[in-house]
Amino acid sequence: MTREEIFAQMYSTEEVYPPPLEAKSALLEVTIGCSYRKCRFCDFPRDGFSIASMSEIARKIELLRLVIDGNPRLHLLGCNPFCLHTQQLLSILGMIHDRLPCVREVSMYARADDVLKKSEEELTLLAQAGITDLHIGLESGSNAVLALHEKGETAEDIEAALYALEKCGIHYHLTAIPGLGGRELSMEHAVKTAALISRHVPFSIWCIMLKVWPNTPLAQMVADGEFQPLTPLETLREEREMVSRIQLNMPCLYVDSTVLQRCSIIAMLPKQKESMLKQMDQLIAQEEIQQS
Ligand code: SF4
Repeated sequence: MTREEIFAQMYSTEEVYPPPLEAKSALLEVTIGCSYRKCRFCDFPRDGFSIASMSEIARKIELLRLVIDGNPRLHLLGCNPFCLHTQQLLSILGMIHDRLPCVREVSMYARADDVLKKSEEELTLLAQAGITDLHIGLESGSNAVLALHEKGETAEDIEAALYALEKCGIHYHLTAIPGLGGRELSMEHAVKTAALISRHVPFSIWCIMLKVWPNTPLAQMVADGEFQPLTPLETLREEREMVSRIQLNMPCLYVDSTVLQRCSIIAMLPKQKESMLKQMDQLIAQEEIQQS
């Protein structure tokens, strides 16, 4: 079998969506789609939700053995595979360590409520079994914004999940969505998201500006005049406001490849915060000139 044939057998969708930080990680499909599927801005609910059987996961691990090339980091695919029961996750981790001994770090996406459904003892067991990193969809630190989009979690829930991960030593990475508050909640979104982030120790922050996907509840809200999206320039101004307010003591990678829908910003916080703000100011000034 060629590598292409092996990869074709390992993934059930043509496109897989690991976070940018996992670009070099080996990928193992464990779930497809999201177990929640209610966020109004999200385009993934169309994928439904399914969990691969243990025999299917075992088969894919055997295929991965042929192409992993000693990669020490493995990312489990799916929108929130951390929703699986602890025992099932432990069984999957057991198979991984048995058949892929090069793997030292295992990461995946998780909702905050997936974390909160597990006890401190379960989280510690999962950390000891090799889960090193979770990618958590924060999206916003504002309860009004989270409720507007039916995120199904409050800022307090998300913070409780982050404290639980800090306690058991699992690193976490946060995604945030500039523009998610629309025109009405833009400032609140920037201020409260920055405040929440500043109370924690994320290893990375991945920002993706809001996109109104067709056929989503958000698209209907826009059509009904219930949500006014920001322009890309307004979104960047809001993101700049958020970044200016983030205060972190530990190194944290900040990534946004959607700035003005055409630029990328990558910086280490807190060290490069001022240079990142200057870069944002330059982009804002250039865009204002272009639009005048
Ligand atoms: S944003 Fe995340 S949690 Fe919400 S429906 Fe989409 S994949 Fe699920």
